[in-house]
Amino acid sequence: MAVGSLADAPKDLLSEIKHLEELFTIDTAKLKEISSHFEIELEKGLSVEGGTIPMNPTWVMSYPTGHETGTYLALDMGGTNLRVCQVTLTEQKSGFDIIQSKYRMPEELKTGDAEELWEYIADCLMQFIETYYGDSTKLDKIPLGFTFSYPATQNYIDEGILQRWTKGFDIAGVEGHNVVPMFQAALARRGVPIKLSALINDTTGTLVASGYTDPKMRIGCIFGTGCNAAYMEDCGSIPKLAYMNLPPDTPMAINCEWGAFDNEHKVLPMTPYDIIIDKDSPRPGQQAFEKMIAGLYLGEIFRQIMVDLYDNNEAHIFAGQDISKLRKPYSLDSSFLSAIEEDPFENLSETLGLFQDKLNISPNLPELELIRRICELIGTRAARLSACGVAAISRKKGYQSCHVGADGTVFNKYPHFKARVAAALCEILDWPDKTDPKEEDPIEILAAEDGSGVGAALIAALTLQRVKDGNM
Ligand code: BGC
Ligand code: MG
Repeated sequence: MAVGSLADAPKDLLSEIKHLEELFTIDTAKLKEISSHFEIELEKGLSVEGGTIPMNPTWVMSYPTGHETGTYLALDMGGTNLRVCQVTLTEQKSGFDIIQSKYRMPEELKTGDAEELWEYIADCLMQFIETYYGDSTKLDKIPLGFTFSYPATQNYIDEGILQRWTKGFDIAGVEGHNVVPMFQAALARRGVPIKLSALINDTTGTLVASGYTDPKMRIGCIFGTGCNAAYMEDCGSIPKLAYMNLPPDTPMAINCEWGAFDNEHKVLPMTPYDIIIDKDSPRPGQQAFEKMIAGLYLGEIFRQIMVDLYDNNEAHIFAGQDISKLRKPYSLDSSFLSAIEEDPFENLSETLGLFQDKLNISPNLPELELIRRICELIGTRAARLSACGVAAISRKKGYQSCHVGADGTVFNKYPHFKARVAAALCEILDWPDKTDPKEEDPIEILAAEDGSGVGAALIAALTLQRVKDGNM
């Protein structure tokens, strides 16, 4: 059969593909509809009544100048790793040096109990300090920026009341509570010489770290295990902060928490697979947008489709093979899909190898092409939906031209993701065709600086400076 076209595939398989294409393709008109609704939801989130998207004020109230100096610690509590960094902001404009250690975040901790989580984090910090600073009992307290990448209410920059766990975390006794005292109590029990200066979100860190080196940066995005964005608002446009009586032109970084977009399912074209994933997740009804886009879910969407095609469809894929490995929830991560989309496509031999090694299944050629097409559909949908959020913030702020700093495994590793987001942005915002394909787009999404490390240190520096200046 012709490789690369599905022309000669069995008829049932072709009709399955057609059906999936209909489910997963989002045309320009729909993108525009989603993005317009997104803009409305951004506004609502800033209102006193609030909306679906939290739009959390972060108390990050300026971009760095590039002249910040000093040594800070940064703690990045990601979904997969725990990272401790020592960041030195050097005399050189926008310069920094970084030393870091990564610790694996044991899977059990994500659904274990709160005490264990804080103890583990404190142990990692202690270990880092003993390695790089020696005898911790002789040290003055070192300022730390804590990157806690979950939705949190902040009345101050060194407070973070967890609104809800995301990204598969499910630890009792933390939601609704300020995480800072829990964290500090664990440090105190061990005598770890650290003073938390700022609690930050990874998106805010990304915005600030990217703004440190690129003055055109206006939005910070994460497309990783979870997805989200932050941008700089003026306090005059944040009705829910009116009680603070801040001058209207005071800048305030907003952590949108856009993963929650359309939790009420008004515009997102959810497929039956998205509905199952939501239902089986630890937090049904939450993070609707994130569950269609973020790295944690892409492999699971794919797996759901495969199992459905095996069990319920005329196509009878993998006939006579044992698919028990494929039945294990969350057994495929987004790197599995990345590898399939990277397969050069001659005979999809790498995809075959992946299926054999990981799942003990040997798909035939039409099935391999089906698999490839499904990955393209999932990956393209994720990228196109992501563009709706970027377009909404840009429109809301009236940005005609700016840079967007993006980070996360999906952005950095998933094939074609960047190009697909760029293409969708162009459709939503009606940009004219470029005369030279190398020309920058008016709104260009670029790889960000390290937001959770350097960004956290910068925010700690900005906070200490603000305290010194006597501003709040
Ligand atoms: C969290 C956000 C975070 C994003 C990316 C989401 O699940 O709610 O706070 O910025 O993941 O890490
Ligand atoms: Mg991170």
